[in-house]
Amino acid sequence: MYTSFSEVKIALQQKQATCESIVKHYLQVIEQKKHLNAFNEVFTESALQKATEVDDKIKSGTAGKLAGMVIAIKDNICYKGHKVSVSSKILENFQSIYSSTVVEKLLAEDAIIIGRTNCDEFAMGSSNENSAFGKVLNPLDETTVPGGSSGGSAVAVAAGMCLASLGTDTGGSIRQPASFTGTVGLKPTYGRVSRHGIVAYASSFDQVGPFSSNVEDTALIMEVIAGQDEYDATLSSQKVDDYSNFNKPEKLKIAYIKDCFDSEGLDAEIKSTLLNHFEKLKQQGHSVEAVDFPYLDFLVPSYYVLTTAEASSNLGRYDGMRYGFRSANATDLESTYKKSRSEGFGKEVKRRIMLGTFVLSEGYYDAYYGKAQKVRRLLLDKTNEILAKYDFIVMPTTPSVAFKFGQNSKDPIKMYLEDIFTVQANLTGLPAISIPAGKNKNNLPFGIQLMGKAFSEKALLSFANYLEKEIVN
Ligand code: GLN
Repeated sequence: MYTSFSEVKIALQQKQATCESIVKHYLQVIEQKKHLNAFNEVFTESALQKATEVDDKIKSGTAGKLAGMVIAIKDNICYKGHKVSVSSKILENFQSIYSSTVVEKLLAEDAIIIGRTNCDEFAMGSSNENSAFGKVLNPLDETTVPGGSSGGSAVAVAAGMCLASLGTDTGGSIRQPASFTGTVGLKPTYGRVSRHGIVAYASSFDQVGPFSSNVEDTALIMEVIAGQDEYDATLSSQKVDDYSNFNKPEKLKIAYIKDCFDSEGLDAEIKSTLLNHFEKLKQQGHSVEAVDFPYLDFLVPSYYVLTTAEASSNLGRYDGMRYGFRSANATDLESTYKKSRSEGFGKEVKRRIMLGTFVLSEGYYDAYYGKAQKVRRLLLDKTNEILAKYDFIVMPTTPSVAFKFGQNSKDPIKMYLEDIFTVQANLTGLPAISIPAGKNKNNLPFGIQLMGKAFSEKALLSFANYLEKEIVN
């Protein structure tokens, strides 16, 4: 029904709809498309209650700037009084006792939160096949994955079950599913959006960001969720810009990483479409140049060494004592730890805890963790070197379109390599966005990814908006 927030606002202004009728519409779509398994839980009652409140505020002229925006949140984002499970058995019945800062900020501007979306367990995965509550289907071809780990959030938007959603991106979990579902997905600069109340996976990588059908809605949501928070000391004090007030991009200098386009695994149709877009950009007076980045092969290994190390430490808190699930077979303290973790975590999460514990272990720390830290620094320096000369780096979001269920799930290395183009932004903390770039011959979408300087969200979103409106269509 609605494809943008501006349409919602018009319908509300012209009294063709109320927040309540809009929520009811989405509840109906969610019900009709239940088989996609995008939601772990629908917040029917609290969403309808908030809708009524916002309708009253609209009448009295006191409504916030996201009044009427119906949003889904990934099931790793705390919302007071609601469950949060990260699609894991270990947190299946856990209820949030406070709301994350992003949720507080959305509610304060009168967004309506409609439910929590399915994802890979503990946000670990690229296909949503790792959820303890079943896989999520891609509505554009139900035999293919929606991407991961925020697959449910992407599908909720792509299938019209809400207007926008939040995901988290540690290594591509917003941008990759956005690419696979034809939606817009942004990973903000590390330190732009609060992580308070987000279930941690790898703390020096995780960022929350929006999914929507267009760049403008993403910019609006960013204006609301970005900015300082006394509960997250990693946040920058830089001012939050008026992201949705787009600059007109004048004569941009754009770099594309040659090695990405030469990489063996890149789908030919994606490559040719992106190269065509570059030609169009050049015709409009921008410069687009190939640059070298000889570290492509280091990205995925250093990402998986560092994130598993952080995950093994972050997930230490799920011990059967403090949170969630406790094994019924436990007999003493030690067996409570062992059995609760063995029974509560899924296979991929266990694999990563093992790997992370190994790379942090005394004899291997320097060889793996220490080395990967150094590589991370090198990647940041080299990426910043490019960004000192260019406004943006542009590349494919993913090497392929959505793949079939089961295609990569037997081989973790193959699955990890799916992240080759997205992890650079997380290793360096830089902002990156994926917007739809085209469709292949089977009508499956794929994204183009734009990466900018730290805290350049306004310029990045302006460029994305320009691409969306004038280049990719
Ligand atoms: N696919 C990546 C991983 O499995 C990214 C996950 C994420 O961004 N949360 O770690």
